[in-house]
Amino acid sequence: MTEKVTGGCQCGAVHYRIDQALENAHICHCRMCQKASGNYFMPLARAPKAKFTVTRGEIGWFHSSDLVRRGFCRECGTPLVFEVVERDSVNIVLGSLDDPTLVRPTFQCAPHAKMPWFGEFDALEPATDETAWYAAIAPSNHQHPDHDTEKWPPAESRT
Ligand SMILES: [Zn+2]
Ligand SMILES: [Zn+2]
Repeated sequence: MTEKVTGGCQCGAVHYRIDQALENAHICHCRMCQKASGNYFMPLARAPKAKFTVTRGEIGWFHSSDLVRRGFCRECGTPLVFEVVERDSVNIVLGSLDDPTLVRPTFQCAPHAKMPWFGEFDALEPATDETAWYAAIAPSNHQHPDHDTEKWPPAESRT
């Protein structure tokens, strides 16, 4: 895996860099991760806080407990990190990576809270043709691209 990983939120207000390979990649099914992500589980991997740099903007924080705080973009709500306050490591929410395929989860936490039909996802029927829908949203896409940018948003999106 690459030694430098970048990522950020959907709107582009927050971007970050990790200067080493991520470790301990896993998915967590716990109820707090479900709520924090608005999803059925949260994919996470660890890096030392000293190797994690916010390169644009500022992370917003919510203490989901006295021990843990969760970082997100205040502008668009993207969940970005999870950290145990007293530890010297941070966990990155893997869907926010610029290339989420770089990190492959190797275990899962909190199976007691797992969706009972979690194992059936891969067998779900694909939707019927979505080409027209993706073509319709493409011209007004405000999502930050999956790489660092000098300026964001680009000037033309403000007109
Ligand atoms: Zn954002
Ligand atoms: Zn969890």
